[in-house]
Amino acid sequence: KQYTAEEIKQEVEDNDVRFLRLCFTDINGTEKAVEVPTSQLDKVLTNDIRFDGSSIDGFVRLEESDMVLYPDFSTWSILPWGDEHGGRIGRLICSVHTTDGKAFAGDPRNNLKRIIKQMNDAGFDAFDIGFEMEFHLFKLGEDGNWTTEVPDHASYFDMTSDDEGARCRRDIVETLESIGFEVEAAHHEVGDGQQEIDFRFDNALATADRCQTFKMVARHIARKHGLFATFMAKPVEGQAGNGMHNNMSLFKGKKNVFYDENGEFHLSDTALYFLNGILEHARAITAIGNPTVNSYKRLIPGYEAPCYIAWAAKNRSPLVRIPSAVEINTRLEMRSADPTANPYLLLAACLTAGLNGIKEHKMPMKPVEENIFEMSEKERAEKGIKPLPTTLHNAIKAFKADDLIKSALGDHLTRSFIESKELEWSKYSQSVSDWERQRYMNW
Ligand code: GLN
Ligand code: MG
Ligand code: MG
Ligand code: MG
Repeated sequence: KQYTAEEIKQEVEDNDVRFLRLCFTDINGTEKAVEVPTSQLDKVLTNDIRFDGSSIDGFVRLEESDMVLYPDFSTWSILPWGDEHGGRIGRLICSVHTTDGKAFAGDPRNNLKRIIKQMNDAGFDAFDIGFEMEFHLFKLGEDGNWTTEVPDHASYFDMTSDDEGARCRRDIVETLESIGFEVEAAHHEVGDGQQEIDFRFDNALATADRCQTFKMVARHIARKHGLFATFMAKPVEGQAGNGMHNNMSLFKGKKNVFYDENGEFHLSDTALYFLNGILEHARAITAIGNPTVNSYKRLIPGYEAPCYIAWAAKNRSPLVRIPSAVEINTRLEMRSADPTANPYLLLAACLTAGLNGIKEHKMPMKPVEENIFEMSEKERAEKGIKPLPTTLHNAIKAFKADDLIKSALGDHLTRSFIESKELEWSKYSQSVSDWERQRYMNW
């Protein structure tokens, strides 16, 4: 809903809102917030809240540190939980601007808007996205920190489980619905303590915003149940990791241009060109969709996560799957990203790759319905199946070599992304793990 300033003022008044939380996202996908008391409401609504951007990862240097928050009124909501004193907290997602009023290029949300504008110029009206959010719930310890103990030992779609994990999942679903989410599915996943919640698709910007809201809600509600929600890609060795499947479709008006009644799998040529763009840039996109060292411990055989660049209709081992669906739901399901990805950057990259594919008019490789993991390296080579990067280091290299995907981030974000990821890799390279001691102490 597009709220007006007057409506927001009215809601603040009617609901005893005492604080306003103004949110934005840093390069790593972490949501940041400036919280002000409602005495500042007028300033909030006239883009007059300033903050120091120099301490935000990927933003600016000290000497140019002042930033201004422009709230997007359509994101207004009142958090379902109050503050300690019973007052409520209102929330707005903001665009970050510079002091001279320009949209700041280092803000991932502004950048996604820039790419959406490019899509509009290419003649399309909406890039619709449905995310499938997987995460783990662990017990909180007495000190209030996470442990690795799980609240249940249920498994995939286990309905019999009536444990704290299931109760917490239902509480998360109800809380999301109370702030306007339409939750389409929620179930236990394969791993111990692992859950999935899917909310209805919407345009890319709204879905990226909801992804951030989703994490905030899940983390908050989990604590109420004595649990800790984590979105880390592979929290437990030897068990399924957390994916964030990205279901993409493209619209002209009300028409899903990925759909063609006569196409194979009901896919239009436009969908196939888009798909080819995704496949051609998949290695670079991986750096964005799988941005942590730990992300690559999920992308291994045996846990329904992809390792190879290929597509198929049913087979779940390749990168992109075509779920069976009726017209409006015809979509490409990209299965590589995990929920530690910055959703704004991920969608900017996927959209740029897909649009470029449409421009190039090139058909993708043939679908691969056989199990890729059982093929020999030679068979894979014959079919043109390339691997996804297997480490963050290789993914960064692929990103640096891909001018199109770098253009999807723009110069500022590309620079801060590379800087941030290289630092991450260098820290990891210097660390010595327990696995190494166990293995090498006696060599
Ligand atoms: N957890 C799996 C992953 O890592 C996905 C499982 C599924 O939803 N089928 O992507
Ligand atoms: Mg699912
Ligand atoms: Mg799943
Ligand atoms: Mg899926």
